[in-house]
Amino acid sequence: MAQRETRRHLFYKVETPSNALDALEAHPLWQQNKPNAKKSRRPMDQKVIEEIRKMNKERDWDQFHTGENLAKSIAIESGELLELFQWGHEAKSVERLKEELADVLSYCYMLADRYGLDVDQIVLAKYKKNEEKYPISKSKGSSKKYDEFDD
Ligand SMILES: [Mg+2]
Repeated sequence: MAQRETRRHLFYKVETPSNALDALEAHPLWQQNKPNAKKSRRPMDQKVIEEIRKMNKERDWDQFHTGENLAKSIAIESGELLELFQWGHEAKSVERLKEELADVLSYCYMLADRYGLDVDQIVLAKYKKNEEKYPISKSKGSSKKYDEFDD
């Protein structure tokens, strides 16, 4: 158990370099959401992850949160989310949608945290890659995958 605690501690030690935060704030997606992010540089994710860590620590649940279990939990909760759309194009209940979405996101936060990853950074980094994979000239109004583009 002590070894496990030490390993988790190492993951928590990974910190976000300040230049990465500057890059994050310069990104168009961050700029678009700026009005909602006035209070601090990192308005939401730190509060969320701190709350998740606190709950898990108080209940000694981290022992169950291996990478494999967290990845499986994301898929399981995604199935519950998908069930809301069974037989229809829209969610059966917005209240249930909120709950299942929160379950999926919670496990995503926990998995990212386990590997010392910043959720905002990895999403924005992937979007940057996707912008390059899907140039506007080839992808506007199209649902084609990048490897289906006509050259
Ligand atoms: Mg659920």
